[in-house]
Amino acid sequence: FDDQGEMHHVQGPHHHVHKPEDRQAYVTLATNDTYALGCLTLGESLKRAATTKELVVMITRHVSDAMVRCLEKTFDFVQLFDVMDSADSANLAMLQRPELGVTLTKIHCWTLTDFDKAVFLDADTLVLRNCDELFDQYGEFSAAPDVGWPDCFNSGVFVFRPSIRTYKSLLHFASTNGSFDGGDQGLLNSFFHEWPRGDIKKHLPFIYNMVASIIYTYTPAFKRFAGDVKIIHFLGPTKPWQWNFDVHDRRMISDLGHLGETADLLTLWWNVFISRVLPNTSEIQLTGFPL
Ligand code: UDP
Ligand code: MN
Repeated sequence: FDDQGEMHHVQGPHHHVHKPEDRQAYVTLATNDTYALGCLTLGESLKRAATTKELVVMITRHVSDAMVRCLEKTFDFVQLFDVMDSADSANLAMLQRPELGVTLTKIHCWTLTDFDKAVFLDADTLVLRNCDELFDQYGEFSAAPDVGWPDCFNSGVFVFRPSIRTYKSLLHFASTNGSFDGGDQGLLNSFFHEWPRGDIKKHLPFIYNMVASIIYTYTPAFKRFAGDVKIIHFLGPTKPWQWNFDVHDRRMISDLGHLGETADLLTLWWNVFISRVLPNTSEIQLTGFPL
């Protein structure tokens, strides 16, 4: 009994010290060193925003050892998933769907059952201010609308509850139905199909997944609400780390003039990268990157 009169079970060494319901984490994913640069910047942005949650990055074996050491400086857990080597039957079924490679890796986040609740963030997201309230205010499965088709959610930011049962259902669903867009977003939208017309409390406000490249479609709204934005998402083919940037002079080489307000958001990403990631990446040959 503790001083509140609560009874505690004696825990063996294989038990976690924290009760599972105490543990919450932000989770991201990188299947290669380039996306890992995004994870590092995202992780540092979470720390800058003084999160109290644990930080997890899921990786595959294509991430280099030097990059793993960098990731370990920012993240509490660097979790390796060797997806295609797995021998369980659900994974074998997935081998018939090789196009779902990265997708399959993303849904492994449901296996992180050391955590009771988690928030998945794409490697191309950036946290501008503390958003730990996501864990208190939202449950599985919560996500924000996709800007291309708002009756679908965008799978770059979502609140979920790790569970092997859900993971297995997702795997089974993926192996039988595939994904209508070939990626995790199609799969997850088909699986959590109640989302568009279900519980409105599972619709995350756009401030948690503000797509950087679409400001021009509604600039007055951006001007009105920009101060509230907490997470930006660099969705699309050109990621922040792909712009031409001079690491030594710390300035953008590409002309971003045509990008309007989006250029300011890219600058935010680069500021975090320069001030908080670059000093920790001395082990990595960044010249091999499209920086
Ligand atoms: N991802 C990865 N390696 C890849 C492609 C994607 O690790 O080759 C991960 C990464 O976390 C990324 C997420 O999957 O943020 C979703 O892909 P992306 O952000 O490129 O898609 P978009 O948001 O542009 O649709
Ligand atoms: Mn993304």
